[in-house]
Amino acid sequence: MHLSELADGEQRCAIVVAGTLKAIMAMHKLYTADNPFEAHLLCGYLVAHGVSAQVQGDVLFSMRGELPMGMDTLPSVWLLHAGEQERGELLLEEWRNNNSASTDSDDNWQCAQCGEESEGGFAACWQCGSMRA
Ligand SMILES: [Zn+2]
Repeated sequence: MHLSELADGEQRCAIVVAGTLKAIMAMHKLYTADNPFEAHLLCGYLVAHGVSAQVQGDVLFSMRGELPMGMDTLPSVWLLHAGEQERGELLLEEWRNNNSASTDSDDNWQCAQCGEESEGGFAACWQCGSMRA
């Protein structure tokens, strides 16, 4: 083998490694979920809105108990492109708000003004019209 060929080969290898590292660096961890179900829900929401996302660690989750407890065993949602980070974070906010809104809406709430109880679906008191606090 000629020495210049070897040098060529090394150079090519370095480029490939740099390219792989760049791909890893471009990935951005958006959210650590409590369970795989939640992670896949969010991931599906992001993908449906045109953001490339991936769930990682949902396999490890099923091995919990055998592994030491910690964040690493929780499934997480990753963005595949750094350029979509801002949009991904906005969608995460939206998704969390949607989730909390749907659970809150079932609960009755008490008006801070007149003390009347209103159903969760109403944003204002049916009695005096005060906005829900
Ligand atoms: Zn009221």
